[in-house]
Amino acid sequence: MNTSSNVVNTHLRVLTTLRLHVVNNMRDFETDMFGVISSVDCVVNVTGLKTAHNPSELPQRSSCRAAILIQRCPSTNTQTPKNPSASRPNQRESTASRTMKTEGIEGTERFASPGKGRGLRALKHFKVGDLVFACPAYAYVLTVNERSSHCEFCFTRREGLSKCGKCKLAFYCDVDCQRGDWPMHKLECSAMCSYGENWTPSETVRLAARIITKQKTLMERTASERVLALSEFEAHLDKLDNEKRELNQTDIVALHHFYSKHLDFPDEEALTELFGQVNCNGFTIEDEELSHLGSAVFPDVALMNHSCSPNVIVTYKGTVAEVRAVQEIPPGDEIFTSYIDLLYPTEDRNERLRDSYFFTCDCNECSTRSKDKAKMEIRKTSTAPEPEEIRSMVRYAKNIIEEFRRAKHYKNILVCGVLWSSPLCS
Ligand SMILES: [Zn+2]
Ligand SMILES: [Zn+2]
Ligand SMILES: [Zn+2]
Repeated sequence: MNTSSNVVNTHLRVLTTLRLHVVNNMRDFETDMFGVISSVDCVVNVTGLKTAHNPSELPQRSSCRAAILIQRCPSTNTQTPKNPSASRPNQRESTASRTMKTEGIEGTERFASPGKGRGLRALKHFKVGDLVFACPAYAYVLTVNERSSHCEFCFTRREGLSKCGKCKLAFYCDVDCQRGDWPMHKLECSAMCSYGENWTPSETVRLAARIITKQKTLMERTASERVLALSEFEAHLDKLDNEKRELNQTDIVALHHFYSKHLDFPDEEALTELFGQVNCNGFTIEDEELSHLGSAVFPDVALMNHSCSPNVIVTYKGTVAEVRAVQEIPPGDEIFTSYIDLLYPTEDRNERLRDSYFFTCDCNECSTRSKDKAKMEIRKTSTAPEPEEIRSMVRYAKNIIEEFRRAKHYKNILVCGVLWSSPLCS
């Protein structure tokens, strides 16, 4: 391993420790404690959010990436920047748009977000750290590289998992997990045996096969679809360029090739639509070390619109997505998540948003570009940092963790600010 990758690893370790700590504390902290976290003297990129256009796309771990992951940025102020597009929508629109007969998510409602189509807004006050809602995956798939270290069914990571006796490629905590996974695993078990090394469907294809299977068996709306049904996903087919169109076609061919034995396929048009939907609405699940764990669809989570100063963050507990407030959310405010890495300047962010999600963001951060200068400065440090700098970051991280511990213990002092962002960058 060369020096540069050592540097990257050190950064990632520091980041991971910090992130783990923040996330763990998020769960443990009483919410009043958590409010303090929004006062800032640093920027820490702490977590995995909704990310890739293509769920099989891996987060890049370049040294540039590592260098921007943890940076002291004294001028950054993340104190509840007000998003103009989150201004209170009027009541008329909301009532008109509430056409769905579902139980919904307590404390929130689906509504027509001005200029953004549908969205989710708060009906009650959410404090920083509050769990806004949790959403089990509608369908998910463990990435091939993480087999044997994670249970295919519940994504638990541990030693000594038991393997599927037939293909010897899928691993489980116990017989319950194996049984639970069988309706999905059987799509691949014997195919993997017969194709051997030639079994190479993309993760998108694997996920699509599972969605099709679920759609056949689940006639009723699932617990993942309280405010948005999977069938309502946008496919944006009219906006695809030739390259994306071809990719979709390749995926469809692969789906037929690898899954024909166990799947009755919908027609070509429906399949094209499905792949478009998965590409725009798929999530990548990451573990605490920012390793790609798998891909999934979380319909309710996909209802939230994007903002570059989001008021919630998505983290994962096994195959369940948890949406937590990272800013105070008063009733009436729209709930925004970020689809992309926020440590990039406005131009770059919007390029990615246009490429993957087909829109240009008009949030407060994009109009004021108030953090661009700081972000550009951080980006300039794309060369690997000096050892002393790393030592200083490690010291810094340790201190922050120590502060977390103390704060947790005394529930009163805490001086770390957190900028939540997604780990995917190019
Ligand atoms: Zn398990
Ligand atoms: Zn098997
Ligand atoms: Zn924006």
